[in-house]
Amino acid sequence: MIDITVDGHVHTRLCHHARGEMEEYVQSAIDRGLRKLIFLEHLEVGINYFEATWLTENDFDYYQAEGARLREKYKGKVEIGLGVEIGYNPRCIEEIKRRLSLHSWDRIGISYHFLETDSGHLNMVSRKQVNIDALDRFGVDDVINNYYKVLLEAVEKMPGQVLCHIDAVLRHHPQISFTPNHYERIDELLDAVACRNMAIEVNTSGYRTRDEPYPSLSILKKAVKRDIALVAGSDAHRPEDVGIYFDRLPDLIKELVFINRQSSEDR
Ligand SMILES: [Zn+2]
Ligand SMILES: [Zn+2]
Repeated sequence: MIDITVDGHVHTRLCHHARGEMEEYVQSAIDRGLRKLIFLEHLEVGINYFEATWLTENDFDYYQAEGARLREKYKGKVEIGLGVEIGYNPRCIEEIKRRLSLHSWDRIGISYHFLETDSGHLNMVSRKQVNIDALDRFGVDDVINNYYKVLLEAVEKMPGQVLCHIDAVLRHHPQISFTPNHYERIDELLDAVACRNMAIEVNTSGYRTRDEPYPSLSILKKAVKRDIALVAGSDAHRPEDVGIYFDRLPDLIKELVFINRQSSEDR
């Protein structure tokens, strides 16, 4: 149900908020006995934010060249995929598509990180207090509703294969809670994902922040009921975090298989 020998989501120093060279992540994947590692670096376009947490066009050229070198060097030891995590921006659809067209990708992940406001963008998944305070003023309910509305648009308009960490919005806000209305929006989103044969990411970085992956078990159950494929990703921003918490996944899979069996009996 989830291939735990593949880490499908890691970053590198190239995005400016992770550390470590691409090669260090590859070595870490080998040390952990992974069969495959997929880099999923940040592509953001048209974001007005106080720091750049994504790769430029030149950075992606280097990324592709270095990835090709590493693929050759570590052949037979670990497979290497070069992917991209699109941070969706509804104002820059054509520019995102142009950037995607510059390379071929082993995986295209869809995320939505930055909310546009009158005074620039706010990072909705950040732990920085400036973001949390500003988003709080915006209103938690409004932020979440906007997040799912725009994420649905991203699924519909982008050539994505995997939807990343779908309930990570406001993950560092102390009073984050989802209402029945939010869950309805998540249902709509999952329907769109199923319709496009996209996969959902089980992002294990959540085990560190809240003892549960992104998304939570209740959302993963909804995905399983729709026969949506699940892929594992650590979202490592440090080489030592490659494959982190993957040892928790067998138990999660057991629980999801159980749900799957129940729902197929219901059918
Ligand atoms: Zn990142
Ligand atoms: Zn992300």
